[in-house]
This record gives sequence, structure tokens and C-alpha cells, in this order.
Amino acid sequence: MTATTSTLGELDRRYVFHPFTAAGAHERDGGPAMIVSGSGSTLTAADGTTYLDAMAGLWCVNVGYGRREIADALQSQALRLPYYHGFSSMATDQPALLAERIIRLTGDLGMSKVFFGSSGSDANDTQLKLVWHYNNLLGRREKKKVIARSRGYHGVTIASASLTGLPAMHAQFDLPLPMIRHVSPPYALWEKQPGEDDAAFVARLADELEQRILAEGPETVAAFIAEPVQAAGGVIPPPDGYFPAIQAVLRKYDVLLIADEVVSGFGRLGAWFGSHLLGIEPDLMTIAKGVTSAYVPLSGCVVSDRVWEVLARDGGAFQHGYTYSAHPLAAAAALANLDLVEHGGLIEQAARRGERLRAELHAAFDGHELVGEIRGIGLVAALEFVAERGERPVRFDPALAVGARITRACLEHGLITRALPAADTISFSPPFTITEAEIDTIVTVAREAVDQVADELA
Ligand code: PLP
Repeated sequence: MTATTSTLGELDRRYVFHPFTAAGAHERDGGPAMIVSGSGSTLTAADGTTYLDAMAGLWCVNVGYGRREIADALQSQALRLPYYHGFSSMATDQPALLAERIIRLTGDLGMSKVFFGSSGSDANDTQLKLVWHYNNLLGRREKKKVIARSRGYHGVTIASASLTGLPAMHAQFDLPLPMIRHVSPPYALWEKQPGEDDAAFVARLADELEQRILAEGPETVAAFIAEPVQAAGGVIPPPDGYFPAIQAVLRKYDVLLIADEVVSGFGRLGAWFGSHLLGIEPDLMTIAKGVTSAYVPLSGCVVSDRVWEVLARDGGAFQHGYTYSAHPLAAAAALANLDLVEHGGLIEQAARRGERLRAELHAAFDGHELVGEIRGIGLVAALEFVAERGERPVRFDPALAVGARITRACLEHGLITRALPAADTISFSPPFTITEAEIDTIVTVAREAVDQVADELA
């Protein structure tokens, strides 16, 4: 076992170029764990160590690991038809069934069609093409700018990394693209002014957006993109009334709204879509992650009736498509996954487990010297650590890497959490199937890890 483990670690260290990893350090030192199997919310490493995965991978393995129903669907589809494409009007059965299912699940959001891709990033890239094509068809050739938000996370392709509002993801690649703008996020802990209530905060954010549109020229602004709840950027649920206020501004200037539901879609917030929960009326919706619980890659751009009506006017072919668009194997996995979510009552369960997780986090961390805020909604939560608490909190020196140290301490105690970028925030986004006992473990271990780092900092 030991020999096998070290050989695997050696192969990984020498040959795998890891995403979002310090390349030289990984080649020199390797990583903390080589995961080889998973069941429920538990992962097992090659050396036999087990981990409780409080992040469902990267906010995505919503039905938990090891679900036979999805494996069986993959096997039978792979034997029947592993692949055929959707170009030039060719079709396969599984994407047709899946698209109908997705449109049905979006309910009264007025959605019409699904364009399939393989990742959240490629889907957001496609969204920009849809928006530009839409305005070209309407003869509005100037209307091409897209406004995103600081701390938003929309992916890593050239366009979607540009939309992402994290400067570290721009610096190495000379991004963002010139037609992308960013406005402030609804990040109450740092953006809200002392004494400002939610309504005034929302009004100020909506005004900032309006002023930005006016400064750019409304005839040049095509779309606004937002996650219902900013996930990777800090787990930031918006204050009440945020999206209705933002939408009123967008409508006034005929600016499309893209709801990036890559994390929030398919139940993470305790509703099928964040749009349902937060009163969002998207023109375009991006989906990925939870549609297959990440058993295989699949994403989509969900297009509203009103956008489709314009796109359908084009007499020529839409000059865009991936080899893996409408992949039948991915669609079969998605259908099996959605059966589990829909017929297993997993969305209600996610909502209940989320309530318990937040209650336990409050019980364990309210008043803790390091904890500036406990945030969450549905089955996603976060702790943000600050050097000084109170009405005007003070950040830790980033060089102390407090969030990363706490995540590392959790890992040493068998718990996987995630240190979010450019903040001392750690997140929790477990599978919907997490048990109550496992939630107790998450909170107990997190508390030990936070106390350990607090001692180190004292
Ligand atoms: N959009 C959101 C909201 C995300 O959280 C992510 C990934 O975490 C993406 C887009 C990008 O998805 P992918 O990593 O599949 O390209």
C-alpha cells in the first residue's frame, strides 16, 4: 500500500500540471492527499486516510459520492450510444429529454431552450456570444459591454475570467477584456457603511450600477452577470430586495441579465434555482455543476423566450458549438442525477441540513475572537475571520494567510473545507445527503481548527 501510494504521488508530482496550484511547489513537494474513492460525503485517499468532504468537491457533488443510479445510467448509455454530436440539426435522445426537464424545472422563469457545453466557464463564454449575437441581430452593434461584480466568479476562459471579479485571476493573463466592467458586490461586511440599513445599501448599489451604465453610455451596455449568491468570491448572499432593485435599473436601459446559477442551480440554496428564491428574472441562465452532480462534465446556457425570439430570427446557422455540446453520456448522467434530486426529496433535505449547519456554526462561533461573520443560505455557509471585530472590522494581514491556515488545520483533522480567494473566509457546501451527525463533525472539527490557529496567532 505504502509503495503504491508513494508511486502514485510521485507520478502526480512529476507529470500532472494542477489547476489553481503553485506549479513549482507542487512539482517539488507534491500535495496533501491522493483521493482514490468516495462514498456519501466521505473520501478515501490512497494511503487509507479518510476525509469528510464539507465542500462536495468544488460545490458540485450534490447527491454525494458513489451513487449507483448514475453509474448504471452511464454504463447503459455508454454501451448504447456513447457519443454523437448535435451539429447541423443532428440529435440524440438524452439531451432532448434533459433540455425538456431543465426547462420544466425552471418553472415560471420564462425559459425556452438549452445550449449545452461542458463547463461553467465555456457556458459563460457562450453567454457572451449569445448576447453579442442578439444585439447584432437587433442592429445594436455598439451594445456589447458586460458588467460583472467584484468578487464574482464566472470561470477561467478568456471571457469568463474577464467576468470574474478577482484581480489575481486577471494579472497573469492581461485580463479583463476591454468590454468588461465590474461594480461593487453586495458584501455587507465590508461594503456597507456604518449605520446604513439594507434598504439604503441596496439603493446605493443599484445607483452605482445606474451611474456606471450612464457613464459608459446605455447604448454600449449589453448585459449584467451575477451569481444569485456569490460563491467562490466569499459566499455572499445579497440583502433583501437586491435583485429587484438591480433588475429595475437593467430594464430601464435594456440591459440583459445573465444569472450564473452554476453553484446555485439544482438545489444548493434549498430551491431549484437561486432565481426562484431571490426574485431574479433572468434573460439567460448559466448551469453546470449540480446538473450532473459533477459525475461527468456538463453545462448549459438556458435561454429565455424573449432572447430566443430574437435569436430565432437569424436565417443562418449559429456559428458556435463544441464537439461535446449535447453529449448523450453527460445528459444521461444528468437525468439520473436529477431523478435522485427530484424524487429523493433532496432539495428539501438540503434546506433542512443547511439550517442545522448554520445553527451549529452560530452556536460554535458566535462571539469567537477570530470570527467576523457567519454567512449562509440553503446548504452553503462560510466563516469570515477578522483581526478586529465590530462595526468597523479590520482585516488580517494577507501574509498571515489565516483562512488557508484554518483550512489546512481542518484537513489535518480529516475535514475538507475551502479557503476562498482574496479573503480570510472558509466555506462549507457539503453534499445534500450529508447526515446530521456529519454536520456535527464539520462544526466540531472546524472549531478545533479555528482555535488552533487562534492560539498560533496570539
Ligand atoms: N460560475 C460559477 C458561479 C462558478 O462557481 C464556477 C466554478 O466554480 C464557474 C462559473 C466556472 O465553472 P467551471 O469551473 O466548470 O468552468
